[in-house]
Amino acid sequence: MTERYSRQQLFQPVGNKGQQQIRSKHVLVVGAGALGSASAEALVRAGIGKLTLVDRDYVEWSNLQRQQLYTEQDAQNKLPKAVAAKNRLRQINTEVKIEALVMDAQPANLESIVQTADVIIDATDNFDIRFILNDLSHKYEVPWIYGSCVGSYGATYTIIPNVTPCLHCILKKMPVGGATCETAGIISPAVQIVAAYQITEALKILVEDVEALRHTFLTFDVWNNQHAEFKTGKMKSDKCSSCGSTQTYPYLAYENQLKTEVLCGRETVQIRPSQRHLYNFDELEKRLKKQGKVDRNPYLLSCQLPEQRFVIFQDGRVFIHGTNDIQFARSLYYRLLG
Ligand SMILES: [Zn+2]
Repeated sequence: MTERYSRQQLFQPVGNKGQQQIRSKHVLVVGAGALGSASAEALVRAGIGKLTLVDRDYVEWSNLQRQQLYTEQDAQNKLPKAVAAKNRLRQINTEVKIEALVMDAQPANLESIVQTADVIIDATDNFDIRFILNDLSHKYEVPWIYGSCVGSYGATYTIIPNVTPCLHCILKKMPVGGATCETAGIISPAVQIVAAYQITEALKILVEDVEALRHTFLTFDVWNNQHAEFKTGKMKSDKCSSCGSTQTYPYLAYENQLKTEVLCGRETVQIRPSQRHLYNFDELEKRLKKQGKVDRNPYLLSCQLPEQRFVIFQDGRVFIHGTNDIQFARSLYYRLLG
């Protein structure tokens, strides 16, 4: 028994064998915001073999209240979350292989990663990506763990392909609210509770303790002292196109429709070029300086216009902050970068 993981190994359901299993496994965490930070840190401390962390955003001041991997320096430098997270996680445990990817969670980007993953943790903030994860999970038979939180409310559910109903089945029977962190705010304990359930379910999967998995959809409101669990067994539909008898994975075909999208409750439009587009930041800086103040780091360049702010990533994606209007954002994009 190594000293490092001794307390975890003394926990009987893990034991020496479980620790070896944890050490040999690969976890994919999609999203490196509040939930992703919490899960990534716990799993890296627990000694998983490999972590892949995917995120498209960069660190902002409003993140620091709950996104535990990030510092003021990261917000100052507008570091991509995946990069800042990797820096911190490396300091925590050098034994874990950490792959941090600054990119959109899209089928084409995730497909090869999912194939080698043992479990996927949902730490995203929107249902477009969750439905993609749901389909990828079923296509490659990799379990995934849904998690969401807003205000003091949280929800989580563990999806085992071909065993449990999938997200698609469940959401047909259960309404989901439209509130986002930006409209309803969020307190960090709501995040920590959801993450704690997700991490625990992930550990059960990693040590292959299938019996211990929770088969309910769990929700809570920690401020208003509410807790509820719903049995989901009967929600599974044989007609479901993601998990039923004929699986067509409809959400994996949506790739090309998501080129321009409004980011969840953020007054921000993301534009993704149809092909990977590498900008020359030196040239771009010269050009954009005429329009407004330009800031840059090795991963992104931002330009403050009078009303909007442009952030251009190395992979070609552009955030236009300060608008929810896709047409307007596109015209601005073509005027400045096209
Ligand atoms: Zn289903």
